[in-house]
Amino acid sequence: MLNEPIIATLKSQLRGEVIEPGDATYDVARKVYNAMIDRKPRLIVRCRDVADVISAVNFGRQYKLEVSVRGGGHNAAGLGVCDNGLVIDLSAMNYVRVDPVKRTVLAGGGALWGDVDHATHGFGLAVPAGIISTTGVGGLTLGGGLGLLTRQFGLTIDNLIAAEMVLADGRFVTADAKRHPDLYWAVRGGGGNFGVVTSFLFKAQAVHTNYAGPMLWPMQDATDILRWYREFITNAPNTLNGYFAFLTVPPGPPFPEHLHNKKMCGIVWCYTGLLERAERVFKPIRKFKTPALDFVGPISHPAMQSMFDAIYPPGLQWYWKADFVRDLSDEAVAVHVRYGAILPSAQSTMHLYPINGKASKVRNSETPWSYRGATWAQVMVGVDPDPARKESISKWAKDYWTALHPYSAGGAYVNFMMDEGEDRIRATYGKNYNRLARIKKRYDPTNFFHVNQNIRPVG
Ligand SMILES: Cc1cc2nc3c(=O)[nH]c(=O)nc-3n(C[C@H](O)[C@H](O)[C@H](O)COP(=O)(O)OP(=O)(O)OC[C@H]3O[C@@H](n4cnc5c(N)ncnc54)[C@H](O)[C@@H]3O)c2cc1C
Repeated sequence: MLNEPIIATLKSQLRGEVIEPGDATYDVARKVYNAMIDRKPRLIVRCRDVADVISAVNFGRQYKLEVSVRGGGHNAAGLGVCDNGLVIDLSAMNYVRVDPVKRTVLAGGGALWGDVDHATHGFGLAVPAGIISTTGVGGLTLGGGLGLLTRQFGLTIDNLIAAEMVLADGRFVTADAKRHPDLYWAVRGGGGNFGVVTSFLFKAQAVHTNYAGPMLWPMQDATDILRWYREFITNAPNTLNGYFAFLTVPPGPPFPEHLHNKKMCGIVWCYTGLLERAERVFKPIRKFKTPALDFVGPISHPAMQSMFDAIYPPGLQWYWKADFVRDLSDEAVAVHVRYGAILPSAQSTMHLYPINGKASKVRNSETPWSYRGATWAQVMVGVDPDPARKESISKWAKDYWTALHPYSAGGAYVNFMMDEGEDRIRATYGKNYNRLARIKKRYDPTNFFHVNQNIRPVG
């Protein structure tokens, strides 16, 4: 049983805070991005440095507490927080250091992608990340990392050089190509299963101003756009990324009034090639079907990376379902169009993220990420501010997914999954699952880190 003297001893070992039920900051500190998640941990340790993380891990082990690790808190399944246990909260470890000579970026385990984009932009550099800047570097990287630079520079894990980690037994190690190469392999897609990553070292890419933004078309064009897009994006140069979406136009500026609240289909483009060539690259796109809205033009990388933040603030209800997709058949297009037309709320959406290009040049065995041969990661996202609508947005996402799953490649991107059970996790890692389970046994034999898309130790 935890009592005051025990907690006082823990506090004396830390530079960071310990937050408990009844503390003024408790209810804010236990919140995660998805408001559907309402967990009440016994303790939240907001670590300031590696020594704090070691103390927190040792404390959790000594008192046999359930332990969750919180990076950016964006996980839709709420895997950064637990009930009655200990949350190792890394949000105060959000430093970012750029080495412009070596072109590397060191990010603390609790940094957000907006922190990285801000720090790197001044040097004309960027690390491939996701599409919302408030997402955590930790969870996104450990699961893979898909975004606007994927076709040119690969997944986020393809740009990860090293991870510094605190293991379940409290040891501090560096995982890279030479030191603990098995662990280095495992953290590039295997999630938070292997320890607390206190810092990530990334290779940075030369990216500054892109030619990017959304193009929207009326819903009645969705079949034509999807059929055209499936061919176009598989043949496009790697410098051009574009993910397809169904969405509802927000009712305010900068969107023209006649489109407000209209359900539409669109593609969010990002061209990272030479700006003087951009108009030429987009000519055939604009010619295929003149968009009803065309916000594509020169834009700084951080501005593009945070373009949709305001539409998706923290505190909304989220439920999503996902799959990898190899081919988008006419039958699958028809299902998409059917469910895209009945988006259940203004913020609900569906995204098809291309994985082809650079990300597909890495073999499935090189990292745990087992769907390098898939063309897209698709995700149906039910979102609404009103808790009373959580059933209806979840039902839409589940029905849509059920109708499309027969056309999918099997597993799903692990960062787009809810709590869906071991079979789904096995389907996602495919042939890499057993290797992950053996590495788990080596580094975390008691499954101390299990509040994640869990890989059970074997071997
Ligand atoms: C609005 C939104 C947009 C998104 N967009 C994208 C996108 O464009 N591309 C994409 O790839 N994904 C995207 N995602 C999915 C995102 O990658 C996952 O939700 C991811 O888990 C978030 O990481 P986090 O650190 O914020 O989450 P958390 O909830 O803090 O953590 C998620 C998991 O990672 C573990 N973890 C986090 N940090 C560490 C660490 N330092 N050490 C060890 N374990 C850690 C946690 O224990 C937990 O299991 C998006 C999610 C949301 C909600």
